[in-house]
Amino acid sequence: SREEITYFGAGPALLPTNVLNTAAQALVNYDNTGLGLAEHSHRSELATGIVNTAKADLAKYLDVPDDYEILFMQGGGSGEFSATVYNMVSIWVERRKQRILKELGIEGGKEIPEDELVMQLQKAVDEELRIDYLVTGSWSLKASQEATRLVGAEHVNVVADSRKANDGKFGKIPEESTWKLSKNPAMVYYCDNETVDGVEFPEFPKTLEPNGDDGPIIVADMSSNILSRRIPVKNFSVIFFGAQKNLGSTGITVVIIRKNLLPPAVATPAPTLLRKLGLPIGPIVLSYETIAKNNSLYNTLSIFDVYIAGQVLKSLLSTFPDKVDGQQAIAEKKAKTIYEALEAYPESYKIVPDKSARSRMNICFRVTHGGDVDAAEKNFLKGAVSNGLTGLKGHRSVGGIRASNYNSIQLPGAEALAKYITVFAKEKA
Ligand code: PMP
Repeated sequence: SREEITYFGAGPALLPTNVLNTAAQALVNYDNTGLGLAEHSHRSELATGIVNTAKADLAKYLDVPDDYEILFMQGGGSGEFSATVYNMVSIWVERRKQRILKELGIEGGKEIPEDELVMQLQKAVDEELRIDYLVTGSWSLKASQEATRLVGAEHVNVVADSRKANDGKFGKIPEESTWKLSKNPAMVYYCDNETVDGVEFPEFPKTLEPNGDDGPIIVADMSSNILSRRIPVKNFSVIFFGAQKNLGSTGITVVIIRKNLLPPAVATPAPTLLRKLGLPIGPIVLSYETIAKNNSLYNTLSIFDVYIAGQVLKSLLSTFPDKVDGQQAIAEKKAKTIYEALEAYPESYKIVPDKSARSRMNICFRVTHGGDVDAAEKNFLKGAVSNGLTGLKGHRSVGGIRASNYNSIQLPGAEALAKYITVFAKEKA
């Protein structure tokens, strides 16, 4: 039964049982309407209510300021690798266009010399359009590869690649003094917590701290650590995350975006202009402007998934009067409990990432005792399962053990894993 196991899978992840029970009922008969939530129209009043409540509760829990909009999208974290490129490149072009028009002395309403504008914009695109990526693990690497696929390598700047000073492996965050940021990038992109490699930014990078309205556009993937610690939302232009780890079930992706990146502050350039400039035109369902304009209901959204996310947020808000700070304290305690158990037996375990960048959410380690790592890890996993500790196998690309320590893992679950780590090492000593 659910009570007998603790599931440490990386995502989809464990969901609180009380939320699932409520959702199961809502799936069959929501609020005595005789219809389940997967059947009700996304255009109904109740659907809008569920969307608006989830948005408000998310904003409350994370203290999202009023000048940010929250969007529910589809396409997962991977969809956002593309969406961020399409949207931020468009914004870069639009801002550049406005600058050129100003330089040409063209005021609103007057005729625009189209050829001249396109020529100047093309020059700017060719010479200056850059998207900056901090590559600190498998997911930021994938995001940068998607950017290369969409706009070409000449427009993608890898600010730093943590494999370079680390034997070709991820596990560290490069010194900020070595980062090579572009002059006026369309965005600076990073992944706050690398799920596969167990690398988490300890805090917001000093180098990226805002310096007024002209500061760079900062975009972060927080798929695997959102809702687990306080974030300085003000420092970000866009934060995105798939729901399936700390927020809810697979199927929705959340975008928190500063309103000055949406109309009326900034318009989306005409597709004809982007086409002339040889830049990609994104699918309409990945357009932040379109999704924002329609309060996330441009097309059929899974209201059932939004409902589950909403129930998780309600549960977090009622458990922690101090909101995300309360959850953060527990997340830190759980991670500390597991890391300390591993550190106590250096002969038996090797923690993969450097201590300075250890993730609180995805704890990656190797089982090293006896010399035969493969056999030791197989044994470790087998013993774990018989102790009710499941989902601990590392990502197929890196192997090893990974304990995903998301919010729904309660402290006793983390303690049970720490105890097993200790017992296993002692038995083999
Ligand atoms: N970013 C991170 C940090 C992830 O962990 C994942 C998935 N595990 C993704 C992006 C991709 O998400 P999806 O599978 O929803 O496309």
